[in-house]
Amino acid sequence: MSADLNLFITEETIDGEDDGPLAGRTVAVKDNISTAGVRTTCGSEMLDGYVPPYSATVVDRLTDAGATIVGKANMDEFGMGTTTETSAFGPTRNPVDPERVPGGSSGGSAAAVAAGEVDLALGSDTGGSVRCPAAFCGVVGIKPTYGLVSRYGLIAYANSLEQIGPIAGTVEEAAAALDVIAGPDPNDGTTRAPSEVDGANGNPDYAAAADGDVDGLTIGVPTELFDGADERVVETVEDAIAELAAQGAETTEISLPSVEHAVQAYYVIATSEASSNLARFDGVRYGHRADSDGNWNEAFAATREEGFGAEVKRRILLGTYALSAGYHDKYYKKAQDARAWVRQDFDAAFADVDVVASPTMPVLPFELGESLDDPLRMYLADANTTPANLANLPAISVPAGEADGLPVGLQLVGPKFDEETVIRAASAVEER
Ligand code: GLN
Repeated sequence: MSADLNLFITEETIDGEDDGPLAGRTVAVKDNISTAGVRTTCGSEMLDGYVPPYSATVVDRLTDAGATIVGKANMDEFGMGTTTETSAFGPTRNPVDPERVPGGSSGGSAAAVAAGEVDLALGSDTGGSVRCPAAFCGVVGIKPTYGLVSRYGLIAYANSLEQIGPIAGTVEEAAAALDVIAGPDPNDGTTRAPSEVDGANGNPDYAAAADGDVDGLTIGVPTELFDGADERVVETVEDAIAELAAQGAETTEISLPSVEHAVQAYYVIATSEASSNLARFDGVRYGHRADSDGNWNEAFAATREEGFGAEVKRRILLGTYALSAGYHDKYYKKAQDARAWVRQDFDAAFADVDVVASPTMPVLPFELGESLDDPLRMYLADANTTPANLANLPAISVPAGEADGLPVGLQLVGPKFDEETVIRAASAVEER
């Protein structure tokens, strides 16, 4: 089964300690997270032969907690995609319907959980890549607050936006994995302890927060994140929110006018950072090197021509353009202004509500091949997930139900470092 779905790029076991909170649990790790001695490709030919000399902090934390890593999960090349079809190792199929995509970019991770091949998985979420595949495969995915989980050993795509996050079959299991990987890391200066953060609970217990108690919770429902979404998705998500109200939550319509610009701002910032982060793949230090007898520039160009796929090249070009002299103010600076506006909008909303609820994805899972020729259509599918990355906020996708036999995800976004409220509300959705 797993061979047909193309879940893994590399199947190799990394044993964990004998005991610990995750003893006996198996984990799929997205292939952009470094594993010492085990090939780590980012879904790219560029890193086909790359074997990292060290492991990411999250990998060490998982194995220290007793988990066994069973393989490196398939992904969109360097995390750039929404379907896992841009992988140089072929697409992953959705276990719910193998003619459809599993979402992306952490498609192998979510599909491995949904197929029952592993208990848990790690993905990375730059603009939705944990939540999107969780929604499309009918499992749970958490995008932590920026700085809660170490990025040490995560091969960067857009470092100001991304976080590693857990994927599991239930909210409680995903939260238990978050308990293990969260917390400051001396190797990542952007990490913070929730105890250092004003208003946050100093000693969070994420698994214990999955208690299903939403009595008295206020849920904001932003009209902008429902406008234009597939009707079947909207209906399923509205039913789930009504169920939370029946359990004692209060729901209130809110407005987040800035989010209409989130996708545009996200793609300018993400591609700008990518153009810089991916400059290191030059054929000298890592992975692939073209057989070129030209000068350095020619060899660099030949290596990148061969090593990168079409989507990665498109984004490096877009990002280089957005940062170039004369266009920097027009694109990059504008995008940063929009990012600040998104942050302010959420801050204002959280003065009145505890969490913000919406569809995770505005569409049902695409059929294989459907979105490949139409990058713009693929980018627009990230409309609801990118705001949480721009604002660095915690977010979760939890199954809300099905439409036409396909999974629909409900997204909940919370205030900075308040993953407990997000987890609590999501666990109530599961109780329907
Ligand atoms: N789909 C988005 C993109 O292609 C998000 C990817 C991600 O979160 N890594 O950039």
